[in-house]
Amino acid sequence: MLDDMNTEEVADLVATMRTVHASGRTRPVEWRMAQLDALERLVNEHEDDIVAALASDLGRTAVDAWLADIAPTLAEIEYARKNVKKWMRPLRKRLPLNQLPARGWVQYEPLGVVLVIGPWNYPFYLALSPLVAAIAAGNCVVIKPSELAPASSALMADLLPKYVDPEAVTVVEGDGSASQALLAQGFDHVLFTGGTEIGRKIMAAAAPTLTPVTLELGGKSPVIVAADADLDVAARRIAWVKLMNSGQTCIAPDYVLVERSVRDQFVETLLTTLAEFRAESPDAGQPIVNDRQYERLTRYLKASKGTIVVGGESSDVDRTIQPTVILDPDPDEPAMCEEIFGPLLPVLTVDDVDEAIGFINSRSKPLALYAFTGSKAVRRRIADEVPAGGVVFNHIAMHVLAPQLPFGGVGDSGMGAYHGEWGFWTFSHRKSVLSKAAKPDPRFVYPPYTERALALMRRMF
Ligand code: NAD
Repeated sequence: MLDDMNTEEVADLVATMRTVHASGRTRPVEWRMAQLDALERLVNEHEDDIVAALASDLGRTAVDAWLADIAPTLAEIEYARKNVKKWMRPLRKRLPLNQLPARGWVQYEPLGVVLVIGPWNYPFYLALSPLVAAIAAGNCVVIKPSELAPASSALMADLLPKYVDPEAVTVVEGDGSASQALLAQGFDHVLFTGGTEIGRKIMAAAAPTLTPVTLELGGKSPVIVAADADLDVAARRIAWVKLMNSGQTCIAPDYVLVERSVRDQFVETLLTTLAEFRAESPDAGQPIVNDRQYERLTRYLKASKGTIVVGGESSDVDRTIQPTVILDPDPDEPAMCEEIFGPLLPVLTVDDVDEAIGFINSRSKPLALYAFTGSKAVRRRIADEVPAGGVVFNHIAMHVLAPQLPFGGVGDSGMGAYHGEWGFWTFSHRKSVLSKAAKPDPRFVYPPYTERALALMRRMF
């Protein structure tokens, strides 16, 4: 616990890890595979403890814990284990004639000692999947989980040293001051997952030591529902992910832009779907993580100028909010200007897909963009014309589960990416190596230059 650690102890911890890294212990593929195996065993052997920690921190059900924290972590581990040997292979490159005879290649080098700062909303997945990438790349890793998921943070601090190399992977618990104390030491990389505002602070704290950053941030992820969409499927997929973790998911659908001609039918289908999904406990509100977030969301509700077509109620007693659909809010009201990160879903009417594209492009670049449409041409247009971290057509959030695809934001939604090989690259230095022979060694390239030598050099280079 950093609360119990002073700056000197933080410095000692990082210094020890530097020594471990410098010893070369974390470089061989065998070490990397052994850590990945150990991590897999940790998750499998402690699934019940992970479920209990998530229930305690976030009131999450066992199904949701498996779906959103356990299964995707195991998938990342398995994918890395299968591929890490291949990823580590040097990449030979063809060289221009004027460089020959020589050989050139790119060699993937571990960065050194890296820092992973996690959020509270998927505390295991968003701490352990960056860890997978960092150890696959042969680094020593400090993890700073979120203090807002204390049971999950404590469980990781307890279990990780029992499974993975405890001198190469450590957990430092604590709040923002713990991240700051760590960042002050300087790292070879930091991967931060959290909100955009804190992301700015991370980048500022990383600047004095020139620590490179990957920022996995948030923002508003819009959904376009075109007139030719399968409205039943769109409503099901939107409602499913919006209800998950009470909408407190970075790639949850933030708001919907629906074409006017299908607006009423879509809203009706959405309401029916929400009722179906909540049939077992129709009156249960959605739990919100803390008072600050609860107050923020209820403030959005009070300030809304839209029509609340379902939900709208909240309970201070158990800090819950009913899933709420707000029809045609003012585009300038708080719910439309800030990331929602809760169970509120604004639905705005647009005349056509052009208007939807224009609306999204007039705002910060989203982390995820979703569009439901049967038209290939419309899908192509949206993919080409709207900058976003990632795009999913006819589904929500599924791209996060494909380790073959890079996951990350752009602009205000983040910088850099990870998952699968992209994570391996994030935590590796791509070292270029050019290996030449001593001979031939043409004299004319060295000074003093004659006219003839210069003419030859111009032809060569
Ligand atoms: P947050 O930014 O409040 O906190 C994230 C981490 O930063 C925590 O570990 C926290 O202790 C630390 N921190 C807080 N203040 C700090 C400071 N001043 N200096 C250094 N570190 C500090 O985020 P959160 O509330 O845990 O998560 C919610 C946000 O994260 C949402 O915006 C969401 O969209 C985003 N998010 C993004 C992704 C993604 O993959 N892009 C995933 C999940 C969440």
